[in-house]
Amino acid sequence: MSEPEEKRGGPQVLARAEHTISRAAMSPNALKVLYRLHGAGFLAYLVGGAVRDLLLGRRPKDFDIGTNARPQQVRQLFRNARVIGRRFRLVMVRFASEVVEVATFRRSPEPPEIEEGETADVLAPTPDVDEYGTPEEDAWRRDFTVNALFYNIADFSVIDHVGGLADLDAGVIRTVGPPRLRFAEDPVRMMRAVEYAARLGFRLEDELADATASMHPEIRRAAPARIAYELLESLKGGSALRIFRGLEDASLLGHIVPEAHAATVSGNGAVLWSLLASADERYRKDERVGEETLLALLFLPQFLAALQKAGERLPPAGDIERLAREQLEPAMLRLAISHYRGHVVRSSLLLLTRMMAPAKSGKHVLRTVRHEAFSTAWQVMHLLAEVDGRYRSALAAWEHPVSQALAGRAPAVEATKLGREEAARGRRRGRRGGRRHNRPKPAGAP
Ligand code: ATP
Ligand code: MG
Repeated sequence: MSEPEEKRGGPQVLARAEHTISRAAMSPNALKVLYRLHGAGFLAYLVGGAVRDLLLGRRPKDFDIGTNARPQQVRQLFRNARVIGRRFRLVMVRFASEVVEVATFRRSPEPPEIEEGETADVLAPTPDVDEYGTPEEDAWRRDFTVNALFYNIADFSVIDHVGGLADLDAGVIRTVGPPRLRFAEDPVRMMRAVEYAARLGFRLEDELADATASMHPEIRRAAPARIAYELLESLKGGSALRIFRGLEDASLLGHIVPEAHAATVSGNGAVLWSLLASADERYRKDERVGEETLLALLFLPQFLAALQKAGERLPPAGDIERLAREQLEPAMLRLAISHYRGHVVRSSLLLLTRMMAPAKSGKHVLRTVRHEAFSTAWQVMHLLAEVDGRYRSALAAWEHPVSQALAGRAPAVEATKLGREEAARGRRRGRRGGRRHNRPKPAGAP
C-alpha cells in the first residue's frame, strides 16, 4: 500500500508551537498510557480520530493510541490491561471511566475485525509478525487522510504521512490511496466517508465521490454487523440528519436500509428527516436517546404509512403485529441485529400504536409501562409528537397516567366508553378477548 516516503520528501511534522493541540484537552488516562509507553522506551502516539478532532477544536469521542510495543509488552506495563482480538491484537487499558485502546502499528490495509469482548488466549497463535509495521505503514493502512494523523508524546509534535493536515485545512475527506482500491478492500469505508463529511461539514473529494457513485452496490458485500455498527454510530452522534441525507445522496441508503430509502422516495422523507433532526436536537441538549429508539426511527415512517394505508381506523392488534413483523424482520436479519434488540424495536412500534388511542384503564396503562419495550416506545412517541402535531393529543392523554405508573402509583384513567365496553366484553368472554369492531382511530389518520 505504502509508496516510499523519500519520494514525497518524508512526513510533514508540526512542532509543538506550530499546532493547537493541548494536552489539557486530552483524557488524563490516555496521557498516562502515552507517558508510560514512552517512559518504557517505546514510540507512543495518539492516533486516528482524536488527533483530527483536537486539531479541529472538537471534543474527541475516544483516545486511541498507537505504539511499536507488541501487545504483550503493552499488557505488561499496565495492571488494568487485557489483550483482545484474534488476528489483530489490541490492548484495552481499563480505567474507572473509560477504556483506552492501544494498538501496535501495523500495515495490513484490511478492516478491523475485532469481536466485542473477545479475549485472546495466551496460547493462541500470535499474528504473523509481518502484519506489524512502521508508523508510516500504519498511517497508510488507515481509511482517510484526516484519520491518519499522529500526535507524538515524545516531543508533542503532529506527524502527517499522508497529507491529512492539508485536507483538514481544506475540509476534504480523501481516502489514503486510490478510493476504488480502498473501497474494494472494505466497502464500509464508503459509509464512513459520508459519515465524516456530514459530521465535520467537509466535502467528499471528487475521485472518492465518483468511486462511490459507481461502487455503491458493493456495500452489500460488507459484514452486516459492521454496517449495523456504522449505522448506530451515524444515528448517535448528533449529525444523523446530515449523515442519512448523505447516505441517500450517495445511493447507499437503499442498500443498507431500503425501508428508510423507500420513505424518502414515497413522499415520507419529510417525516424521516424531521425525526432524525429531533434526535440530533436531543443529542445537543445532552438528552439520552436509546439505540433501539434511534433504530426504530428509521422504520417508523414506512410503518406509519402502512398503518394509514390499512384504513382510517387502526387495524386490529393482530394485523398491526403482522405489519410490524413484515416491515422489520427482514431488516433485522439483514443487519444481524440481535433477536432481543429486534424484538424491542418491533414491540416499541406496537406499543406506539397502542398509545395512539386513549388508555382504556389503569391496568392497561400498567401493562404498557411494564413492557420491556416501553421506554423505547415512549421516546419514539415523544419524538413523533414533536415532528407531527397530530400525535400530540394522543401523547398528552397518556402522559399523566404514565407518570403515575412510573412513580409506583395506580394510574387514574378516565373510563372511556370504549374502555367500559372492553371491560364488559372481557367479563363476558373471559380472557380470550375478541375482535374489536369499534376500533380507535389512529391519531395520524386523515
Ligand atoms: P470517531 O470519532 O467516530 O470515533 P474515529 O476516526 O476515531 O472517529 P474509529 O471508528 O474509532 O473512528 O476508528 C479509529 C481509526 O481507525 C480511524 O480514525 C481510522 O484511522 C482507522 N479505521 C477505522 N475504520 C477503518 C477502516 N474501515 N479502514 C481503515 N482504517 C480504519
Ligand atoms: Mg474513535
